[in-house]
Amino acid sequence: MTAAERATLPGARRVVVKVGSSSISGENSAKIQPIVEAIAASHARGTEIVLVSSGAIATGMPFLALDARPTDLATQQAAAAVGQNVLIYRYQAALRAFEIVAGQVLLTAGDLENPTHRSNARRAMERLLGLRILPIVNENDTVATHEIRFGDNDRLAALVAQLIGADALVLLSDIECLYTRPPGEPGARPIDAVEYGDDLSGYEFGSVVVNSVGTGGAATKVSAARLAAASGIGVLVTSADLVDEALTGAAVGTWFAPNPTPGDVASTGPVPVAVAAVEP
Ligand code: GLU
Repeated sequence: MTAAERATLPGARRVVVKVGSSSISGENSAKIQPIVEAIAASHARGTEIVLVSSGAIATGMPFLALDARPTDLATQQAAAAVGQNVLIYRYQAALRAFEIVAGQVLLTAGDLENPTHRSNARRAMERLLGLRILPIVNENDTVATHEIRFGDNDRLAALVAQLIGADALVLLSDIECLYTRPPGEPGARPIDAVEYGDDLSGYEFGSVVVNSVGTGGAATKVSAARLAAASGIGVLVTSADLVDEALTGAAVGTWFAPNPTPGDVASTGPVPVAVAAVEP
């Protein structure tokens, strides 16, 4: 059943794809190319794609002559301001061969809670998609710092998927799937699928990871996946290296089955994952 649900991905009308900083910056900056190729192939099949991409801070670091991720918020924001521009340029350079134009959309989770901002954002995204433009979304880091602090572009991606009524959300990171305990620890088993409403309290997803380039980790992915799944959006968590397999419906990653009755979000149940706050 769950393999079959993954197999519906290539036929999805609207898909949000989220990429993390470490997948597309530093020594991985060349990975933008295969990600764009997979997105372009999906776009060519008629799917409307929205890309949510982190990586502004990590991309900006060398331009500010920083070898390591800055520790103070103001310098992180400065690096993001510089890196966002370079990041979009790199995406557009890779998209050119496919004659796809990118549109930059900078949002905050708060924007999606404010009715006026929300409807403005929805209208703009609908128009971009109608024009066959690829919206590339990131957190607006000069006015919001939630992602910098909590690695929550995963959450932003789930909120964007809800906003535009996406059929599926693909969360890409550097691991192939989620595990029942941190991978490498004894007894860690890969999770193939999570049925809607499954109790995950026996699993250990760890807290938010802060590495040299970005923030995130399994816990933010699980929270975001459950948020989107509650609204009827199927979610696939896998590695950026498997983006093409993900978008063509291969049996990869961890699949979160969507709520079959999404009007009834009250039945979601608790999200059994504590996302610990980590000071950058
Ligand atoms: N939105 C920021 C970025 O794209 C923050 C990501 C992070 O915490 O590294 O770089």
